[in-house]
Amino acid sequence: MAILIVDDSPINRRILESVLRQTGHTDIEHADSADQAWQRVGLHSNQPRQDVELILMDIMMPGTSGIEAARAIKARAELHDVPIIMATAVDEETSLQEAFEAGAMDYLTKPFRRIELQARVASALAIYREIRTRKQRERELLETTTKLEEANAALHRLSTLDGLTGVANRRWFNEMLESELRRAHREHMEGKPAVPVSLVLMDIDHFKQFNDTYGHLAGDDTLKAVAGALTRAVRRPADMVARYGGEEFVALLPRTDTVGAVRVAENMRAEVERLDIQHEKSTAAPYVTVSLGVATTTELDGAALIRAADECLYQAKHEGRNRVKFRPQPAPTPTPA
Ligand code: GH3
Ligand code: MG
Ligand code: MG
Repeated sequence: MAILIVDDSPINRRILESVLRQTGHTDIEHADSADQAWQRVGLHSNQPRQDVELILMDIMMPGTSGIEAARAIKARAELHDVPIIMATAVDEETSLQEAFEAGAMDYLTKPFRRIELQARVASALAIYREIRTRKQRERELLETTTKLEEANAALHRLSTLDGLTGVANRRWFNEMLESELRRAHREHMEGKPAVPVSLVLMDIDHFKQFNDTYGHLAGDDTLKAVAGALTRAVRRPADMVARYGGEEFVALLPRTDTVGAVRVAENMRAEVERLDIQHEKSTAAPYVTVSLGVATTTELDGAALIRAADECLYQAKHEGRNRVKFRPQPAPTPTPA
């Protein structure tokens, strides 16, 4: 780490240097003007130097003054913390206020007194090193925090999303189903009209046959494409599409009655059809199709809702696949008095 002496007088520079050397400082550089000082620290370069830890700056120099030089150095973020000690003749002390405003940390009066010079240099260096250490620690802490946040986000993705299709996994779906049912129930208990929650449970038709015909990799690609089609079919931000199991998907539709949910289910069926993925062995159509079951509830029982949707799905399979079946919405329970 270097100390930079800026003074237009070679004699002054030599005096300062010899005092510093007596205290054990060996890396000492000279500049005879503000311009040269700026060059030395790399003020106008892309990367100012990081190894200058102190600047002793004469105030009165021909051309640009030491105060101007200090102000420019302090304005550069990379150099901002480097301490600057101003050197001034006794009769220049009026400019001291300006020097401090420009960012000087301390000052020395000429002629220099050895003890004073050494003490001020030592304390400036100690403060600067402390600041550097602290900022380094802050940087490290920030880095660790950022890494931790990234790891947490990745973990969250892993624990909530399905690895193959990128839609929500069953775990997250279960959580969301519970929380939507609880929310609907709470609002009902607060005296608002019962809010229906709907489910669409769907299953790809003759998918085993698809895998047997086109291979497991083509099967995986189809699962991804179907997940995309289902996601396109839902409109509201609160709607959620999840992979429920192998080739089964589920859509959770909060604040949606049966009529609305059947409409969404029909959209889903049509979007999958529109993918137009060949499936020559299917009895439902010569392309990949899905069967869908829709159920709606205003009650808290999530398992019953899934069971109802599953029964409708079974019925859709039974009646020839590639269709939507639904259970008529039960009459709303009266609002509690
Ligand atoms: P159905 O129309 O009655 O639903 O007939 P199906 O053949 O689709 O139903 P079944 O439950 O007999 O077969 C499901 C098949 O889905 C079995 C398996 O080969 C396939 N499958 C499940 N998960 C995956 C997966 O992650 N990737 C692939 N490629 N295939 C899967
Ligand atoms: Mg299945
Ligand atoms: Mg199937």
